[in-house]
Parts: sequence; structure tokens; C-alpha cells
Amino acid sequence: MITRLSHLFLRTLRDDPADAEVPSHKLLVRAGYVRRIAPGVYSWLPLGLRTLRKVEEVVRSEMNAIGAQEISLPALLPREPYEATKRWTEYGDALFRLKDRKGQDYLLGPTHEELFALTVKGEYNSYKDLPVTLYQIQTKYRDEGRPRAGILRGREFIMKDSYSFDLDEDGLKKSYNAHREAYQKIFDRLGVKYVIVAATSGAMGGSASEEFLADSPVGEDTYVICRESGYAANVEAVVTAAPPEIAIEGQADAVVHDTPNTPTIDSLVEWANGANVLGREATAADTLKNILVKLVYPDGKTEILGVGIPGDREVDEKRLGASVEPAEVELLDDADFKANPFLVKGYIGPKALQANGVRYLVDPRVVSGTSWITGADEPGKHYVGLVAGRDFTPDGTIEAAEVRDGDPSPDGRGVLEAARGIEIGHIFQLGQKYTDAFDVDVLGENGKPVRLTMGSYGVGVSRMVAVLAEQKHDEKGLRWPREVAPFDVHVVIANKDEGARAGAEQVAAELDSLGFEVLLDDRTASPGVKFKDAELLGMPYIVVVGRGWAEGKIELRDRFAGTAEELPADTAVASVAAKIR
Ligand code: ATP
Ligand code: MG
Ligand code: MG
Ligand code: MG
Repeated sequence: MITRLSHLFLRTLRDDPADAEVPSHKLLVRAGYVRRIAPGVYSWLPLGLRTLRKVEEVVRSEMNAIGAQEISLPALLPREPYEATKRWTEYGDALFRLKDRKGQDYLLGPTHEELFALTVKGEYNSYKDLPVTLYQIQTKYRDEGRPRAGILRGREFIMKDSYSFDLDEDGLKKSYNAHREAYQKIFDRLGVKYVIVAATSGAMGGSASEEFLADSPVGEDTYVICRESGYAANVEAVVTAAPPEIAIEGQADAVVHDTPNTPTIDSLVEWANGANVLGREATAADTLKNILVKLVYPDGKTEILGVGIPGDREVDEKRLGASVEPAEVELLDDADFKANPFLVKGYIGPKALQANGVRYLVDPRVVSGTSWITGADEPGKHYVGLVAGRDFTPDGTIEAAEVRDGDPSPDGRGVLEAARGIEIGHIFQLGQKYTDAFDVDVLGENGKPVRLTMGSYGVGVSRMVAVLAEQKHDEKGLRWPREVAPFDVHVVIANKDEGARAGAEQVAAELDSLGFEVLLDDRTASPGVKFKDAELLGMPYIVVVGRGWAEGKIELRDRFAGTAEELPADTAVASVAAKIR
């Protein structure tokens, strides 16, 4: 069916919206794709919705191709499962919480690990049922501190989230790799330029969590890349290549010892996969300010590391019933670590350490060195964890510094370049954090219960629309790759005479019958207005039927190539079809 602009629910705007700073935001609003309802909350109008659905379809087909099965869970969720994993509290202000008429607590799901773990627990009970991967393409809610750039960082947004369940580590790795490859296919099909970067410190060899970052100067993530070796990492996760074995022990007012059984540290052990993860139980009397840790290197050399931060002061204070004195450090992307199921409460990198005047035992190339983790699991107790290992260089004596362009790559095979990106996908080997929380076991082959191990994987579906707009637009307007363009071809009737009008109708009808999605500008507006709109709306091909029609000619414009060529009208449709395919 041909869609007629005279009928389409669309008003384009001449001026940029006052609140828009980045090109994708300006253009998507001006082109009538989306409309703002509240900060970070947007409506999708017909053109926007068509593109959104097409992005969804690409994601869905690649998820189905790896055997993932689509389900749909509610966005409105009861508190209890999130209480069980402590995320009801730990998610902090980013969680939309509400009450029903009976006073029961609910939330709007920011991500669904809890519910998927419970869903699998509810249905499956034998090793024969595994592995299984489930996904949904669904609306998520996060009360972002800084909703930004229209749909790029919304408070309501659409995510594809999938969750894999396996019997063992090997299975998890397979599921993870299947997702990694599926994501590459998705982003390649969408034609987005992106890099895959290590998202957490290389304690897990850079594979337990990776982010897909779309190249963009407006991105909020900074990453470094070594063009020579292909090494790439979020600056928060840059690591050294060869980890020394180091031991950690207490010093001064802190006795640091293993706390392998605390759920928080446990999940970190999973996460860190072999790194030295140590912690201590602290008491309500502790301020986290004065913790000193002595690093003991294999050659006997020792160094003192001193630092401490309360992870989430309010939360800790509430739980401990005591005051927690904040150190003067700046948390690196507070919202981010709260959204990250591994980092329990606190996280600091060298920048923060430096700000605190603390000597930090990390090679200057290492941006994200040590992670301090604090978590208050019950009143009167909290845990302090230190993830070390690969973060430390063997001689461990250099003060921290930030990576900048031109610094040597940690793998020693080139230099680092810094760049900015927008997170479009994130894959995690979660391990057993959530299956432990809900005892998600199945009966194993030997008759004994097996605790499942989990992965979680997200794609920003609505964000992708903004990312494509950001990467593909030119000074005239949007430009959509064919796979996600609202229409394949935009036919403009550029002349008032009846012949041209009939000719355009004919071209549009023939393209339509060949299976192309056709937008026909049959309005009475002037050709200038129509061309401007066609460029703004961004279909990849524009066919102009105008003055030339009388001489048997039409024009085909290619928005990406920036070309305009005249084609003979009698073979026009065939040649347009050949071009577009
Ligand atoms: P960011 O670092 O941009 O805040 P995140 O790390 O918090 O993202 P995840 O929890 O990893 O996000 O969620 C998976 C994906 O969902 C992200 O990779 C991103 O593409 C998308 N996403 C996250 N937050 C938003 C948002 N506020 N608006 C639109 N998309 C989002
Ligand atoms: Mg992130
Ligand atoms: Mg976030
Ligand atoms: Mg993420």
C-alpha cells in the first residue's frame, strides 16, 4: 500500500526544539518522528514507529536465530523479588517505585534479571531442560539523573533484554558467545559503526562483560582503542596485560581477610574470576575512611594502599543505624554502577583516589584500577571488598593517571587512542548472583541439584533509532539505511501538471507492486517545500517526477551518495528497482 503524505499524520517543524542539543534529537523532533511528553518520555509518531519496529525486527530475528525464545514480562512488578536481591534499595533513585491502592510496593522494571530467574525456576526442573535463553523487547523504566538527547537517554525506553540459563561455566560461555555474535550481526545489519570494548576490568580476561559502543562525539562513554592490536576498553576498565599474583592483608585499623561467603563478595568472586578478591567485615563503628590495605607482592615487597569510601552513604546509614563519614572522593558514574549487578555499592577509580590524595599502586596506563566494594547486608555489618589482581602492575609503585591519547596500550602492542561512544549493547556473564538469590536449581544427571548459571544481555532498541540518526544524518536531515527506513523510497510529485501527477502515481504504484514501501508526496505544496521535507525525513531514495516527465524523464536521488541522476521514464521503475535493491 502506498502511503500518501497528504494523509500521513505528520507535521514537520522548521525550527529546532529549544531543549535539543544533539543532531539526532533536533532532527527526530523536526521530522515528526517523536514528540516529547515529559523529560525522557516520548511518543512515537507514524514515521518514528515504523523505524522503531524495523529495528526491533532486526533484533528479534537475530535473537530467534540463536534459539532465544521471546516472552513478555510485565513492566509493573512487585517489590519482593527485587528486595530478595537488594536491588529495591541498591538501585537508588533510578528506580521508579509506586504503591497500589492497598499500599503494596511496586516498581517499574529497569531490567529483569530477577523475574527471568523466577520464570525459569517456575517452569523447569531437570538438567534435560537446559540450556535455555529467553528474551523480551519491552519498555523499561529508569529515573535517569540526566535524561538526555530525546530518546537517546530516556526514562522510559525500549530494550531487548535476554537471559541465558546454563548448567555450567562452559555452557554460559557458549551462550555469551552466541549473543556476542548475534549482536555483531544486528549492528552490522543496522549499519551502525561501533566497537566492542571490555566493560569491566580484565580480571576476567575481558570477556565476562563487554559493551558495544557506537562511535559518536555525543557519546557519554569514553573508551580507548589500540588500532595496532585491536585492544579496546571502556576507560573504566582498562587493564594491564600480565597480572602479578599479589596477596593482600590488613594494616592499621583494618584487618582484611577473605569473606568468601558474603553474597556480595561471592558474586564478585564470580565476576572477577580468579582475581584476588578480599574483604573484611566492618562494624557500625567504622567509617570507611581509614582503611589501609597492605599489598604483599610475591617477592616479599610490600606497599600500603589506603583509601575508603562509603558506597552509598544514605543506604549504609539507614542499614547500619550509624553515621558513615564520606570520604572526599567522586564516584565514577554512580548511576552506572547502580545499574550494574556486579558492583554492589561503591566504586572508585584512580581519578577519585587522586582527588583523595591517596597514593595508588597502579600503572599510569591503568585507568580503572581497584574497585572497592562496600555493601551493608545487615544492620551493624558491612563489607569492604577489594578487587585486585590484574589491576596491579608487578612493580606497583606508580601513581595513577588517566589514559590519554598516545599512551602505550596495556598489551604493549601499540598506542591508545581515546574516543567517545554511545552504549548500544551490553553482554554479561552474570554467574549465580540471581540463581543463588532464588535457589534456581534443577535436578542434575546424577540426581543432585545443580544451581544454574546465568548471563544477561541488553540492546537499546529505542536508543538505536537515535544512534542511527546521529551517525547517518547530514546537514539536510535524517538518512536511514534501507533496513530501518520508514519507507524504501519517497516519490515526490514536483509539478502541478496532470501528466507529472499521473506519472508519479504510476511510478509509485509499480514500485509498490514490486514490494517496495513507498511514500508518495502528493500534497499541493511547492516543489521546494517537498524537497526540503524529503531530505529531512530521510528515506534513502527520492524519486522526483516533475517537469522532465513530459520529456520522458524522472530523477533518482540517492541520499547517501548525494547523487541525482536522470532516468528514462519508460524504464524508470525497473532502473529504480535495480538501484534500490
Ligand atoms: P548507560 O551506560 O548508557 O546508562 P546502562 O549501562 O545503564 O546504559 P544497561 O543496563 O547495560 O544500560 O542496559 C542495556 C542497554 O539498554 C544499554 O546498552 C543501552 O543501549 C540501553 N539503555 C540503557 N539505559 C537507557 C536509557 N536511559 N535510554 C535508552 N536506552 C538505554
Ligand atoms: Mg553503561
Ligand atoms: Mg545507565
Ligand atoms: Mg550497560
